[in-house]
Amino acid sequence: MLLLLLLLILITTLGLIRGWDVAHQYRTKTTPVVKSPKVAPEEAPPRRILIYGVQEENGSRVQNFALDLTPPPEVVYKSEPGTSDGMNVLGIVIFSATMGIMLGRMGDSGAPLVSFCQCLNESVMKIVAVAVWYFPFGIVFLIAGKILEMDNPTTVGKKLGFYAATVVCGLVVHGLFILPLLYFFITKKNPIVFIRGILQALLIALATSSSSATLPITFKCLLENNHIDRRIARFVLPVGATINMDGTALYEAVAAIFIAQVNNYELDFGQIITISITATAASIGAAGIPQAGLVTMVIVLTSVGLPTDDITLIIAVDWALDRFRTMINVLGDALAAGIMAHVCRKDFAQDTGTEKLPPCETKPVSLQEIVATQQNGCVKSVAEASELTLGPTCPHHVPIQVEQDEEPAAASLDHCTIEISELETNV
Ligand code: ASP
Repeated sequence: MLLLLLLLILITTLGLIRGWDVAHQYRTKTTPVVKSPKVAPEEAPPRRILIYGVQEENGSRVQNFALDLTPPPEVVYKSEPGTSDGMNVLGIVIFSATMGIMLGRMGDSGAPLVSFCQCLNESVMKIVAVAVWYFPFGIVFLIAGKILEMDNPTTVGKKLGFYAATVVCGLVVHGLFILPLLYFFITKKNPIVFIRGILQALLIALATSSSSATLPITFKCLLENNHIDRRIARFVLPVGATINMDGTALYEAVAAIFIAQVNNYELDFGQIITISITATAASIGAAGIPQAGLVTMVIVLTSVGLPTDDITLIIAVDWALDRFRTMINVLGDALAAGIMAHVCRKDFAQDTGTEKLPPCETKPVSLQEIVATQQNGCVKSVAEASELTLGPTCPHHVPIQVEQDEEPAAASLDHCTIEISELETNV
């Protein structure tokens, strides 16, 4: 029985290994692409025909042979678009997101893995912080290498200009039409007035290229100029600055299509949809710091089997595009907060109307009672204790009356916590 079981396990393992192998071969299909020589016909190397004679063994006759020396065609091996070298990035992204959700739900039992991942992340960030100092040199050499590799740098430069213009046009359409119209249809309010209120935040985003660095100004603009509820701004803005990056998603999709076109890859409809999904997922993962989108571009390119090296092509214009897409990221967050404030206005109005007052003590409390209810021993003198209050915002606040003749026992300690009717006061 045991032998049978072992045999079964062996067969299954072999089957899995074979299946993996086949799947791997399937995913990494490489096709030879025969490129015609890129030179003009008149400059093409001449076709050489050699004629030579071979004498027969008896020396009676000489036979002539012609040898046609045609230059071989240039053969370049490329991965078929849609296949990559075995890495299923979309699968990894979905698995990681599911794993994160599950670990979050597991609470204490998931904590070791969460702290392991945090530790790993911190150490990688430290390595990156060291590597960042070499970035300027590295980028110069990468771009120089790419330019030298180009057959025609002027044409590629022109394409890069069109690419930058396409990204900016897309951002303008998204920021000036789609987002404001969305705000208008949901709230029925004038989006121009709202956007005027956050102009300062948009300018800071343009200057810093970082939605995280702009966050305090966005808060200020929303609270002071647009009068958004503090609770909504506090929730929506940090979440938005971390995961809502419309500008980055748009730019990543355009950049991936640009890189495909530079490499003469024909993208079909399915691949364009894959690019859209991975660009959205990658923008969620991007941090709100300058040029973070450039790093997550790798995910988008790998998902459709495009060469990740070609990111160096777009680095040259990325510093400028980053500023515009950060503006759109900040605009998207602010408008989302405005829409949420409108959608939840009734709940919050009710909340403020029937706001439950925090439980507070209205009876005079004797010092003995205070000492009895505290956990770590009261510590202040009677004179100080008589000034204890239950919080400056409590509308039913009354100063605690203490009996002057009762001295607390442990007057030498310097901190005490008093709990009265679930209200904790630190002194
Ligand atoms: N700089 C962008 C931001 O902070 C992220 C990026 O697209 O690189 O929102």
